[in-house]
Amino acid sequence: MTTTEIRDPEGAVLRLRGVSRVHGNGPNRVHALRGIDLTVRPGEFVAVMGPSGSGKSTLLTLAGGLDSASSGQVRVEGQDLGKLSGAALSAVRRRAIGYVFQDFNLIPALTAAENVSLPRELDGVSTRRARTEALSALAETGVADLANRFPDQLSGGQQQRVAIARALVGERRLVLADEPTGALDSTTGETVLAVLRARCDAGAAAVMVTHDSRHAAWADRVVMLTDGQVIEERERQDDSAAGTDVAR
Ligand code: ADP
Ligand code: MG
Repeated sequence: MTTTEIRDPEGAVLRLRGVSRVHGNGPNRVHALRGIDLTVRPGEFVAVMGPSGSGKSTLLTLAGGLDSASSGQVRVEGQDLGKLSGAALSAVRRRAIGYVFQDFNLIPALTAAENVSLPRELDGVSTRRARTEALSALAETGVADLANRFPDQLSGGQQQRVAIARALVGERRLVLADEPTGALDSTTGETVLAVLRARCDAGAAAVMVTHDSRHAAWADRVVMLTDGQVIEERERQDDSAAGTDVAR
């Protein structure tokens, strides 16, 4: 397990401040995000919901250091991603952040186990240890028996579970998942949500984009995006009490 200290003064894993992202120029300008503020602390599981085109995927790619903000600040464990060199940013992505892409992005020439162990090997972990960690992550998402298959020998749902294992391996402290249950049947979807929930209960932080309010119910907080803005932020509703609207 990595032991890099969390450097955010208030201990947040992820902190977005006034984050905007503009695509294109002139009449083609699209404001994908407009002034987003979001803080996610260790142990928190946050769901992001909103209509298609509202900026959910853009928010996730910025949080994961895969794209950069047009203005505002994205901090992961206190580090301003916009100020890091390419190499330092890659190191943060490799060590701290697990990313589940909407379209899985598995490497076709590698087996499931190799796909999952690759980020660990890139980070200098021995092949043997990386394989052990990969098998354990694949077991967590219920696909250990498929470790030696190639992506084209797996169904969409199985590929998605391998992609989730890849995002969890090596005790990532920030897991970002873009509709991680999209290709899964409801039982398997619940299994994966339980895995994410357990990771957060063990101290990780997760942000998950979902269209399904039953899936969002696994999260501690739901952030509603519309037109690139947070229009509502809601704590989880317990069975016993109505949810509390958090004023912004
Ligand atoms: P969501 O995931 O909520 O469906 P996205 O974050 O993918 O929304 O997109 C938000 C807006 O930004 C949309 O209007 C989309 O068309 C636009 N957008 C996203 N990525 C790009 C891009 N690379 N170039 C131009 N426009 C983009
Ligand atoms: Mg999207």
